[in-house]
Amino acid sequence: MIEFKNISKYYQVGTETVKALDKANFKLKGGELTIILGPSGSGKSTLLNILGGMDQATAGQYLFDGRDITNYTDYQLTNYRREVVGFVFQFYNLIPSLTALENVAIAAKLNNNDQRAAEYLEKVNLGHRLNNFPNQMSGGEMQRVSIARALSKKPRLLLCDEPTGALDSVTSLKIMTILQGVARTTKTAVVMVTHNPEFEKYGDRVIKLKDGRIATEFEQVAVSLGA
Ligand code: ADP
Ligand code: MG
Repeated sequence: MIEFKNISKYYQVGTETVKALDKANFKLKGGELTIILGPSGSGKSTLLNILGGMDQATAGQYLFDGRDITNYTDYQLTNYRREVVGFVFQFYNLIPSLTALENVAIAAKLNNNDQRAAEYLEKVNLGHRLNNFPNQMSGGEMQRVSIARALSKKPRLLLCDEPTGALDSVTSLKIMTILQGVARTTKTAVVMVTHNPEFEKYGDRVIKLKDGRIATEFEQVAVSLGA
């Protein structure tokens, strides 16, 4: 169980206080897909960065599986990011000089001949692309490599910031299907930020942000993509 209690993030810009996130409250569960929606500047990345231990709140309390990680030291946060969290970014962040297999293996600290790295790529239907470099793959394929890389760490929490932001609608739906499948088949809490309202229906939980505040939050029976 992951819980934000009145989490706020304020920035002082000159004489003005920017409330990037203002008293956010919610709970997330393992095995659940959460969709976070909101216009540009509404606080989506701020929320995700605090969840992922890349940033810390100005005020409030952050609980993770009963541990209070609100005031973790930098060292503790580093371990938390390493051991607990998987990240998927809009522009994939693959290492261009490594193959798909090597990109996954290096993240999971596996040898290139370790079968497990290949298995994670097979799970995202990339068994035929193991030895391709990023510049030999499409955007959707690169994003699937980055998902395989994140999953190879067996994260409790998988955070995806606009993972389909650079992809066409058909490819985006394939990525959505994979992320819903991860939530359905593992105990990982999957959180996906998007500004595409079409994706709202695929989430088990929906959080909508506006001007740094949670405008709406609800659970629903998700439309199944049948992964
Ligand atoms: P989103 O991801 O929804 O586009 P962000 O979380 O990136 O929004 O930003 C929320 C608000 O906080 C924006 O108004 C943004 O300008 C502001 N903000 C984010 N980071 C900083 C920072 N380091 N310093 C000042 N303001 C920031
Ligand atoms: Mg953002």
